Amino acid sequence: MANSLFFHSSLLFFPFVLYSFTVMRWTLFIDADDTLWENFTYFEAARDRFLDWMEKAEFVRDEVNVTLSRIDSERTHEIGFGSMGYREAMRRTMLFFYEKTGRKKTSKDTALLDEIQRSVHLHSVELYPGVADTLQYLRERYPLFLVTKGVEDEQSGKVERADVAGYFKDIFVIPDKTPEHYRELMNKLNISPDESWMIGNSPRSDINPPAEIGMGTVLVKKERAWDFEEVPLKHNGRFHEITDFRQLKEIF
Ligand SMILES: [Mg+2]
Repeated sequence: MANSLFFHSSLLFFPFVLYSFTVMRWTLFIDADDTLWENFTYFEAARDRFLDWMEKAEFVRDEVNVTLSRIDSERTHEIGFGSMGYREAMRRTMLFFYEKTGRKKTSKDTALLDEIQRSVHLHSVELYPGVADTLQYLRERYPLFLVTKGVEDEQSGKVERADVAGYFKDIFVIPDKTPEHYRELMNKLNISPDESWMIGNSPRSDINPPAEIGMGTVLVKKERAWDFEEVPLKHNGRFHEITDFRQLKEIF
């Protein structure tokens, strides 16, 4: 009788051990732009300045906007993310409209594009409320890695200005966030996707690709985002949706 009781209680105990073991081994990957700090609004301000400029040159604001959005979504594959990619999208949009009317691009146009690019590149970085506390809470419990897509110096500059490097074991600036990029990261760190989570604001970059390779995902939902980030959400069941970074304390 004693033996069989022991047998039963260890069977009950076993899943608990397994569960604790799994929980202890989570590794968390966290996005930066629009997850830890505001970024999108600086691009929005840049876009508005560009549209103002084009409107003054007597082009139809909405038409310019639609073309800029289209070229901007193409740049992700060809010219990359970040302020230089956005500058290039604006430059191509400008040329597209100027060519239609025979207008010549001047040094004033170039100066404007440069100035807009700098305003995005060097924007101030302010953490969302509670981000520092939450990162501190998480880092006491799990290994944290920052994963941001874009251009190395621009993203590193923001990480520095936000003063968050100390919370992370390492920081990865990658050119894009595809399933292959995430798989590469897992291999490099020798971590299995089912022991890890990706946390971020973009279904297109932070949820769908990592979910596809078996990582858990947490969407930090934002009201506004880039048009090209608006893709149908695809997760694998190991998924949470939150609206505030602080809610991570309830999940992990
Ligand atoms: Mg983001």
